[in-house]
Amino acid sequence: MDALNIAIAGCGPAGLAAALLLDAQGHQITIYDQFADPSPVGSGLMLQPTGMAVLEELGLAHEVARRGARVDGLYGEEEHGKAVLDAPYSKLGLRGAFGIGIHRASLFDVLYEAAKARSITIVSGQEITGSVIDSDGRRLNFADGTQSPHCDLLVDASGRQTVFDDPDRGALEFGALWTNIPVESSDPFNSHMLEQRYRRARQMVGVLPIGSRNGGVGPEVAMFWSLKRSQLRDWKDAPLDNWKDEVRSLWPETEVLLERITSRDQLTFASYAHRTLQPSTAERMIAIGDAWHSASPQLGQGANMALLDAWSLARGMAEGRTLREKLRLAVSWRSDHVWLYQWVTALFTPLYQSDTTWHPALRDSLLYPVSKVWPASKIQAQLMSGLFGFPLAPLGLRPPDYSALCED
Ligand SMILES: Cc1cc2nc3c(=O)[nH]c(=O)nc-3n(C[C@H](O)[C@H](O)[C@H](O)COP(=O)(O)OP(=O)(O)OC[C@H]3O[C@@H](n4cnc5c(N)ncnc54)[C@H](O)[C@@H]3O)c2cc1C
Repeated sequence: MDALNIAIAGCGPAGLAAALLLDAQGHQITIYDQFADPSPVGSGLMLQPTGMAVLEELGLAHEVARRGARVDGLYGEEEHGKAVLDAPYSKLGLRGAFGIGIHRASLFDVLYEAAKARSITIVSGQEITGSVIDSDGRRLNFADGTQSPHCDLLVDASGRQTVFDDPDRGALEFGALWTNIPVESSDPFNSHMLEQRYRRARQMVGVLPIGSRNGGVGPEVAMFWSLKRSQLRDWKDAPLDNWKDEVRSLWPETEVLLERITSRDQLTFASYAHRTLQPSTAERMIAIGDAWHSASPQLGQGANMALLDAWSLARGMAEGRTLREKLRLAVSWRSDHVWLYQWVTALFTPLYQSDTTWHPALRDSLLYPVSKVWPASKIQAQLMSGLFGFPLAPLGLRPPDYSALCED
């Protein structure tokens, strides 16, 4: 295959994974990102067997597992202490499988260090505003009025606020406040569970173990609190203690974490959007990751889907004869899974984030009891792990070897 000149817009999980895979095929890669220094802000996230399958192919799964925390399942209670969500990975029937909670910066560091080791060019401080195409290929336009050199292919991996789509399309009313907090072994949290507490679906607080950052002080958790975009101004104007009281009243054990939040600046508001770009390709251009499809992180799939997209793109590049066919193949291997998860996420999100009373009632009185019984227990585990719809087989991927990941 001829080596192509490929520009990648965005240095997140999708962009970095695509860069590593395409560089290994001999293409000439340049990543452009707006950040001044490579340092992703943000919370923790969950890596599922799907994303880990790609990281294993990249030779990075072990390092990611080392920096993250093993998560054996999801557990949630409503405000009166009744269990309403219990989804262990053990129900998957996949030997030794688990999720990995990880600080966003840890995942970034592992991918970024691998990209640097391969001498992949990363151009920072460039805010992309658009792209033009002429007979020599595509060029990116930057906010400072300059342009990139021509490329044969532009991979849009610039996330959900991509300039190649309306950034406000599909914006969801509910988002969340997130913070990362150091934990101690005496803290009253299960260090291998993502735990949540709900007041109906109107309020939710969650605690996710995310391991230790390189050079960090020790293990941390990501703590999150549902908040509507329209409530953000009031939250900022009110005393921080008012918010702490609300969190504490829903889940008293969070007291030890709330004590470690001394300033509002420790909390970041993340907004969510539910959108799928159609079509996801144009001439000499393809969107992957959140630039193609984004959703609320309730099912914890976005970064994993981004990694699968990157893998599919690389496979399409290797197998297609023309550029158009390469891109068509890359999309075709992913589109069913993307469609399925966009649909399922839209269905499930209101059970945990909405103002209605019937969504949480359905969750607590019907879905939870049913989910305890096979085969619903297995389907729930498949949904959570990203394996629902069997996305790996068309990509020639296998679930990671969890016994090897545990060796350390
Ligand atoms: C609070 C929260 C929790 C989440 N939890 C999970 C989880 O548990 N599991 C999971 O799998 N996913 C989770 N997600 C989703 C996950 O973070 C995203 O799906 C994933 O980061 C998408 O990767 P990406 O590479 O496509 O985009 P991004 O990670 O958004 O990266 C895009 C990159 O493009 C750059 N960029 C954007 N616009 C421009 C521009 N105009 N010019 C130049 N550069 C630009 C950005 O600086 C960034 O570096 C969560 C998301 C949020 C907000």
